[in-house]
Amino acid sequence: MKPLPNSIEARDVAYHLHSYTDARKHEEAGPLIMERGEGIHVYDNNGKRYIEGMAGLWSVALGFGEKRLADAAMRQMEKLPYYHTFTHKGHGPSAELAEKLVSMAPVPMSKAYFTNSGSEANDTAIKLIWYRSNALDQPQRKKIISRVKGYHGVTLAAASLTGLPNNHRSFDLPMDGVLHTTCPHYRTMKKDGESEADFASRCAADLEEMIVREGPETIAAFFAEPVMGAGGVIVPPQGYWEAVQPVLKKHGILFVADEVICGFGRTGRMFGTETFNLEPDIMTLSKQLSSSYMPISALLVNENVYGPVADESARIGVWGHGYTGSGHPVAAAVALENLKIIEERDLVAHVQAISPRFMERLNQLGAHGLAVEARGIGLIGAVEFAHESLPNAGALGGRINKAMQERGLISRNMGDALAFCPPLIILEKQVDEMFDLAEAAVADVA
Ligand code: PLP
Repeated sequence: MKPLPNSIEARDVAYHLHSYTDARKHEEAGPLIMERGEGIHVYDNNGKRYIEGMAGLWSVALGFGEKRLADAAMRQMEKLPYYHTFTHKGHGPSAELAEKLVSMAPVPMSKAYFTNSGSEANDTAIKLIWYRSNALDQPQRKKIISRVKGYHGVTLAAASLTGLPNNHRSFDLPMDGVLHTTCPHYRTMKKDGESEADFASRCAADLEEMIVREGPETIAAFFAEPVMGAGGVIVPPQGYWEAVQPVLKKHGILFVADEVICGFGRTGRMFGTETFNLEPDIMTLSKQLSSSYMPISALLVNENVYGPVADESARIGVWGHGYTGSGHPVAAAVALENLKIIEERDLVAHVQAISPRFMERLNQLGAHGLAVEARGIGLIGAVEFAHESLPNAGALGGRINKAMQERGLISRNMGDALAFCPPLIILEKQVDEMFDLAEAAVADVA
């Protein structure tokens, strides 16, 4: 429907280029304008209520309208709305948040570094890794391996890490030196007759083969999400991480765990690193770090990374990197309050308590005649659909997504997989409401 003249929708169409949108289609269809939010719900500018089944972009852990976060922002705005962290300067919130994150890390970490988005965190990780290789007099060790269907963001380097065609096509990406290894999705990637355990071993063997082919001395790091998010919520098969990590260790390759979605409770532990017994050298964090009330992201680096980087900065005289917004005091204050609430309310235990119902309902939806797979862990999941009359990738998923929106549920289709990643505060009866709407929407389309 064409927006009414002068409406917010019409002004949006006239002036706003949207992220992840077909711009021409947007000119026709116009936007859905959200106006306010409360708990797990958001309301559009016609007053229609939706369950935010994606927590925004996998990120609003505390739900909408958490007053303590607004108050924390206001207090910091009034006291010191901005200061930077360049050239030995700093402020309370960034120092406190760095201390908090290092103390929360499930594996020994030395320092936190602050950025503004998940993409910047991953870009910065690459720069730290390259800088470290030079510091160690291994200038040839610069290649990075990530995975097909991995998602690490959209800046030039992060988009290169991302293993999805839409982030490369017409952008002249990926950059040289970024390689993509096998996606650990058992259902679609297994060979005939291959068991899940054999598939997990093969993923590790594929990785090692790539490392050996390229020359182990040229590979600096491996980037991976503990559970793939935007690639379709892909929970790795049993034994995957147990097989992959020794390969990295054997060849002296750094491991970067991209915890941008998994971090802060999503998988039922505070970090995906704990859920899967990972031993990363770097963790990248964002999204639920501040429940996305403010843009902020962080890297945690261990001594193996920090030590050489610090030495190199002393040799050159500067670690020549930093963002105006690195460790922004208002964002840091909001993140600190957010983490305090996550701990006070023991949201990790809450996720553990709610997850069985979430998984039960996810699997029920996955038993629908049009569904081919349900997959999930903690409070993140997806159901993939297929129908021979809609063979184009995403056509069925798009229809179901639209039907869900009409019924008052925000999901997201990644191709034909519909994702569910609600705010961590969701209650059991709200999980039921969410999946009741999803089932009704699928019935509308089927
Ligand atoms: N890494 C992961 C795992 C993500 O899911 C995302 C965003 O969805 C990013 C990185 C990029 O974060 P941002 O969109 O804040 O740049």
